[in-house]
Amino acid sequence: MTETAIDRLKSVNADLQKAEADAGRENGSVNLIAVSKTFGANDIRPVLEAGQRVFGENRVQEAMGKWPALREEFDGIELHLIGPLQSNKAKEAVQTFDVVHTVDREKIARALKTEMEKQGRNLPCFVQVNTGEEPQKAGIAPKETDAFIRLCRDEIGLNIIGLMCIPPVEDAPGPHFALLEKIARRNGLSQLSMGMSSDYETAVDFGATYVRVGSAIFGSRDYG
Ligand SMILES: *Cc1c(COP(=O)(O)O)cnc(C)c1O
Repeated sequence: MTETAIDRLKSVNADLQKAEADAGRENGSVNLIAVSKTFGANDIRPVLEAGQRVFGENRVQEAMGKWPALREEFDGIELHLIGPLQSNKAKEAVQTFDVVHTVDREKIARALKTEMEKQGRNLPCFVQVNTGEEPQKAGIAPKETDAFIRLCRDEIGLNIIGLMCIPPVEDAPGPHFALLEKIARRNGLSQLSMGMSSDYETAVDFGATYVRVGSAIFGSRDYG
């Protein structure tokens, strides 16, 4: 029999539980974000029926096309924006998502704050850190992160709860996760969004509180 998304969701949850125990962390201390980008409502629905409620999408437009209807079918959905955000999409982002992981520029931070005030919503946010200092990748440089957190939190007034990173594909992820944890700790931030299908167990070992897992649950993506 072929494996279904429900089978894979179960095994990811079992792996997470084991990784928590191995790291001496409390059962349930890591939140699983099921990353459903490129998958349609018919692929997502069985995962909702299996009880998963926290999902991640990386494009505002794509999320707007499928999640409002799913929210009418299922209670308690929590939707995380994990992809880059343009300030002209801030309005739609604040309407569609519950948590934003990709705050990395002053312009985005200010646009989000303005929209949240207009809409009367206060979304928890993560600052994305470019731990590998890759020129093509989103995120604030590690050495600029302390000042950027202060700007977002103290001056702009965003509800910054933690940090997010995507390590370079060619690197061992551990040192990147350790760096993110160190920056978060010295800034008094308790939440760490790190770890994907290939490295979520390592991320748990380094203190992840949110892992973002796509293909290990939904299967490989077809970008058409
Ligand atoms: C797509 C994506 C993921 C999930 O990737 P998988 O390797 O499929 O688990 C996690 N984080 C971000 C930011 C993504 O864009």
